[in-house]
Amino acid sequence: IPTSFHSGQEVIEKIEQHGYEAYFVGGCVRDFILGRKIGDIDIATSATPNQIQHIFSETIPVGIEHGTVIVRYKKQSFEVTTFRTDGTYSDQRHPDFIQFVSNIDEDLKRRDFTINALAMGSDGRILDLFQGQQDIKERIIRTVGDGMERFSEDPLRIIRGLRFSSQLGFQIDSDTLRAMEQTKAQLENISVERIATEVEKLFAGEHVSIGLNHLIELEIYNHLPVMNKSPEIMRKLPNINSPIHSLAELFTLLHYFSKIPIQTWVSEWKCSKKTKINAVKIGESIKYFESNGLDAWLVYDLDQELFGGFVRLIKILYPEQQLTVEQLENMSGELPIQSKRELKLNGHDVSNLFPERSKGPWINTALNLLEKAVVFKEVNNSKNELKEWLKWNLPEIN
Ligand code: ATP
Ligand code: MG
Repeated sequence: IPTSFHSGQEVIEKIEQHGYEAYFVGGCVRDFILGRKIGDIDIATSATPNQIQHIFSETIPVGIEHGTVIVRYKKQSFEVTTFRTDGTYSDQRHPDFIQFVSNIDEDLKRRDFTINALAMGSDGRILDLFQGQQDIKERIIRTVGDGMERFSEDPLRIIRGLRFSSQLGFQIDSDTLRAMEQTKAQLENISVERIATEVEKLFAGEHVSIGLNHLIELEIYNHLPVMNKSPEIMRKLPNINSPIHSLAELFTLLHYFSKIPIQTWVSEWKCSKKTKINAVKIGESIKYFESNGLDAWLVYDLDQELFGGFVRLIKILYPEQQLTVEQLENMSGELPIQSKRELKLNGHDVSNLFPERSKGPWINTALNLLEKAVVFKEVNNSKNELKEWLKWNLPEIN
């Protein structure tokens, strides 16, 4: 058992000492077997949320109605959920009811894929009711039970299946694929927020081309917002062989090909304003790059936090280009200023320099010219040199 599991093991043992059962479940067991980096640690238990809150001094009741409590233990968080089954999903959003059950077997049955339906005890023993370990070995994604039934219960599982194939590089079992195809229209009943989370992970997967190929071949995009408006674009997307890290990046790319405004992508996918701002900014830098190449102004104008996104998209659009984030950061480090505020001349100075001119938009134009000239190192950012430069170049300004 790896060190990251040590505290989790203690959490489980503590629960057991109080007479309840507890197991590691879901993604952490799968990733442990695969030797992948483990994300969040989920624990399933026979204890109720109330009982868990009595056992541990530090808990956060994040979803009591679903049976979930976060346990803070030795500075780590553990999502501890009472064994449960899901009722029917008549609205295909939430189970109509959830029912706490007394054993782990019932709990594992409700899980989406065999590779996610494993449990591990504090002694490292693995419970595997659906041949999940075999599927991990063969690198296969397969539903627990009948695909048609499981996808109809919760169609989000279709997108989850694609995202696991994209993250893990696993093949999707042929029956499971067929069931995805047959139930895909039901994705239209699912809230876009739930879909967005999974789609973001799909595109961020190391094996994104596998997940994306399924999205395209099964024509699942026909049942996703905005993508359904540009099916021919989805089919003509270039090969995406390297991950895209955010929906902002994805929407920049889809806008680039579809010409559907970024605003439409962002609002129909119910994303934040920040996503929109970032998507627009990356898009502008791509356009700038296409006419000017990589220069000081591009690096100056783009937020450092968007360098990664910009580089990733350029790599997809222009695979022959060899840009790196490091290269942009080095260029950024060489810039004489990082923002307009650092100019040694302000609007007041500019206005005083030309007393014959009345105040007006020309002042801003002058500052913009100064900014560009400084960034391109045509003039030093010193008060006197900026004044001198402006006197020479002012005739260009109306
Ligand atoms: P990640 O490493 O990305 O967190 P994960 O497998 O842990 O992957 P989660 O979304 O965190 O995925 O879900 C935790 C577990 O809960 C899954 O492994 C699966 O067993 C179960 N699960 C989550 N969502 C569903 C769902 N929609 N239907 C059935 N089971 C689900
Ligand atoms: Mg998880």
